Amino acid sequence: MVRARPPPTLASARNFASVLPIFRVVLRTVLIVLLLGLGVLVLVDSGRRVPLRQAPAATLDRTPLPPRAPPPTLPAMAPTALVPPTATPALDLFARLAVRRRIIREGSQVYLDSLFPHTDSVLTRWFERTTLSVALVRDTLLARWTPGLLEEARAGMRAWDAIGASPRLREATAGDTADITVRWVDLLPDSGLVGSTTLDWGRDGIVRRATVTLALRRNTDSLVLPPPGRVRVATHELGHALGLPHSDNPDDIMFRTSPVTAPSPRDQATLRLLYVLFPGPLRLQP
Ligand SMILES: [Zn+2]
Repeated sequence: MVRARPPPTLASARNFASVLPIFRVVLRTVLIVLLLGLGVLVLVDSGRRVPLRQAPAATLDRTPLPPRAPPPTLPAMAPTALVPPTATPALDLFARLAVRRRIIREGSQVYLDSLFPHTDSVLTRWFERTTLSVALVRDTLLARWTPGLLEEARAGMRAWDAIGASPRLREATAGDTADITVRWVDLLPDSGLVGSTTLDWGRDGIVRRATVTLALRRNTDSLVLPPPGRVRVATHELGHALGLPHSDNPDDIMFRTSPVTAPSPRDQATLRLLYVLFPGPLRLQP
């Protein structure tokens, strides 16, 4: 016997009607989950972008670094030769080589290379000083003393000051501790010499004190030097007091027996170079 089955359409409709609420709940749940997931993704994504946006900002914050200190204002010469001495032997040797190369590069324009042949060759000069006080010792008890001697020494000071490369030479006033002392004597112990300079400097080549002694006569048989000669000697010795060595050219005032009365262009160039180089030993062997 065949039992008649209910019409399938009605049964399907009834089944669909019973499933529909469940389907809606599931759909709503899926939608909520999707929305929540999307929200989480948005949050995660925005959270990940924060550092990416901050990185350039940090970079920008670092951009306005304090301005670099300007290079030292040095007259005429480029500061490339200004190589500081170091405690590292290799770098120290490199610094010495750089100074020597700079001196050699200047060629015959300067005469600092006269220091090289000496085994104890040291570049000596005043360091980090803008002015030097110069005491002119008035020895009125000295025979043949004349106030004109002071003016001759001042002329020598002005000659080096006019170059503007080394510390300014200023006449010491009462109570000053003189950096450079200039004094006069009738004769120097070494016959024939009319000027002598003693430099007090350390192993670093930095000059701490200088004493210039000027003789009024060359030897016991000679007359007093004439004023132009005395100015020349005073200027020459003050050049030593600033650290200049001897020149090998009679046209320079730093030549041992030069007839000139003022620093030559070569004297000036040598002084400028001296005061852009670091003081200290120039020898390559320890
Ligand atoms: Zn000399």
